[in-house]
Amino acid sequence: MHVNVTAEQQEILAMVRQFATEEVLPRAGRIDETAEYPADLVAKMADLGLMGVPFPEEYGGAGLDYVTFALIVEELCRADASVGLIMDVNISLCGEPIYMFGTDAQKKRYLTPLATGAALGALAMTEPEAGSDAASIRTTADKRGDRYVLNGRKIFITNGEQADIYIVTAKTDRAARSRGITDFIVEKTMPGVSFTTHYEKMGIRGSPTTDVVLENVEVPEENVLGGVGNGFRVTMDTLDAGRIGIAAQAIGIARAALEDSLAYARERVQFGRPIADFEAIQFMLADMATQIQAARTLMLRAAALRDRNIPCARESAMAKLFAGDMAVQVTSEAVQVFGGYGYMHEYPVERHMRDAKITQIYEGTNQIQRLVVARQVAGT
Ligand SMILES: Cc1cc2nc3c(=O)[nH]c(=O)nc-3n(C[C@H](O)[C@H](O)[C@H](O)COP(=O)(O)OP(=O)(O)OC[C@H]3O[C@@H](n4cnc5c(N)ncnc54)[C@H](O)[C@@H]3O)c2cc1C
Repeated sequence: MHVNVTAEQQEILAMVRQFATEEVLPRAGRIDETAEYPADLVAKMADLGLMGVPFPEEYGGAGLDYVTFALIVEELCRADASVGLIMDVNISLCGEPIYMFGTDAQKKRYLTPLATGAALGALAMTEPEAGSDAASIRTTADKRGDRYVLNGRKIFITNGEQADIYIVTAKTDRAARSRGITDFIVEKTMPGVSFTTHYEKMGIRGSPTTDVVLENVEVPEENVLGGVGNGFRVTMDTLDAGRIGIAAQAIGIARAALEDSLAYARERVQFGRPIADFEAIQFMLADMATQIQAARTLMLRAAALRDRNIPCARESAMAKLFAGDMAVQVTSEAVQVFGGYGYMHEYPVERHMRDAKITQIYEGTNQIQRLVVARQVAGT
């Protein structure tokens, strides 16, 4: 499938590139150092209409497609992987399930503020005993009259305490595994929601990651998302699309590593010549560029399928798997191009290497992506 990037998409991407280059990139080193949440940049993304890129205008979105969304995530993550992730999670892990499975009232009440940037979203699924095995969650939701009472602890939640709206997975039927799971839209201000651990991370340090604790949180039944007992399917469908965003993030990080490597290789002189003159360096750069292009092709294909409402579980898993592995390899090679300087904090490539690693882990580890792909290609 050939994916054309239209003149209109190019124009939007040029606007995002300008914002990313002029306002995000100069802050990336400091954001990494301090691990501060870049609230002003998130507000600016909202002003630019980036917090609701793929949602219809009637719900406050920009009415664009998933291909454009993925290319915007790449562009933002090329400047700073945390800034791109904050926007990506808001859209693909919180806005998207409400858009796909929500009632009209839920969309008006929750999707609109998420898409305009008036509120920030998160997905709270992972628990201490339930990571890859997402059906093993222990958070419970007990029906009491017209409400559900939620109890449990979610860990490693991106956008954590900064978020206002959470998609929370909980067991409405303790005896059943995946079929006993229901998704709920939970508001931060609901009594009983609190935040504990704020994680110190290896990379994406400007992206807040916290635990979300639910203690007797009363959620009205109209906040059930996608029907009682359908939560596993809602969440898995959400992740099918979400993985396109993580592939885009990985590509953005790898592109930053390549662009920094190119500039450095032209400047750095050894043996009386720029190191870019050495074939060994040229081949490394050529491999990096080829790998990035291959990953982008997979990502665009998955996004284009999604735009056409064609199931894309296999393609998005392939894109995330390939792009994550690629980003880890490309950023490691970038450190190599920089030699000893690459290992030092004052140069950006060690940050790219630390940022890249997470793309092999979240939204399903790359081992789990291989299982998803294997199931699809081998019917296992
Ligand atoms: C920075 C960060 C942000 C995150 N953000 C969110 C978020 O916003 N919301 C959310 O809900 N979660 C989030 N997560 C959680 C993340 O999705 C999980 O960490 C991830 O899915 C892996 O789960 P786990 O950490 O429990 O590892 P485990 O599942 O314990 O896996 C450990 C190892 O075993 C392997 N493994 C497990 N099962 C199998 C199997 N069947 N076959 C082969 N290998 C297997 C894994 O690949 C991995 O290598 C985040 C995590 C991090 C680190």
